[in-house]
Amino acid sequence: MKKLAFIRRNNESHWVGDGFPVRSIFSYNDLGKEISPFLLLDYAGPENFPPWEQRRGVGAHPHRGFETVTIVYSGEVEHRDSSGGGGIVRPGDVQWMTAASGLVHEEFHGSEYAKRGGPFEMIQLWVNLAAKDKKAPPGYQNITDDQIPRADLPSGAGTVRVIAGNYQGTRGPAHVFSPMNLWDVRLTAGARAEFSAPEGWTAALFVLKGGVRLGSGEIVAAAEMAVLERGDEKFAVTALDDTTFLFLNGQPIEEPIVGQGPFVMNTRAEIEQAMDDYRNGRMGRLAAHG
Ligand code: MN
Repeated sequence: MKKLAFIRRNNESHWVGDGFPVRSIFSYNDLGKEISPFLLLDYAGPENFPPWEQRRGVGAHPHRGFETVTIVYSGEVEHRDSSGGGGIVRPGDVQWMTAASGLVHEEFHGSEYAKRGGPFEMIQLWVNLAAKDKKAPPGYQNITDDQIPRADLPSGAGTVRVIAGNYQGTRGPAHVFSPMNLWDVRLTAGARAEFSAPEGWTAALFVLKGGVRLGSGEIVAAAEMAVLERGDEKFAVTALDDTTFLFLNGQPIEEPIVGQGPFVMNTRAEIEQAMDDYRNGRMGRLAAHG
């Protein structure tokens, strides 16, 4: 059985633009090796927004060298990017945006949701690309709730929505550049479930709602992430309440990580190049809004 390596939480929240009250659960700044191929996880909300006439969110900004994966649990996120991608990400939907060689995008609350207000909860996960894939053209996958297959856990313990990779033969729709599994797991209070993940890969559970007891005894509460040891394949969890967790699992990318702001590359020179390319419009531009 896999053992717990450590638990991460962050009680400090900060605003990204004026739309996203975010707790940064981990970042490559201090966990680059331990959490590879994942770079960062920002947990936005849960927050109840009042109805609002203006646009809330974050305006045009670039990314290069990785992918941003936005998983919406409540509320709506509206997106546009310079490669032509765009759309509204609704509850249950996942936006898998490949920045790779570079793009410019904006992220706002969906305009209908903003007008009506209500609960907002979202995860943005950054997934690294290997050096060879950082040069790939940018891409955009708008994966809707109905495209994400659900697998039942044994004994009515709950369900697994397979966003990427595979759970017991159920395959997720996301195109990925390196081997990984991303599962949105729902467990019924009191249920115990066993999972299996490749030995040597990063494996972490981020609990959004409820809480779990790991097979090794430790409790992981809401807004906490448990990183498991890479040895062994199996691990077990028991739900202390009706529970939602995101399971992050991937083969580490064994390359140097050098990042600054919205760029994550392998060398300092590539960061300088990214800043120069962005300043000179070589990552594209967004058309004026409206
Ligand atoms: Mn962004």
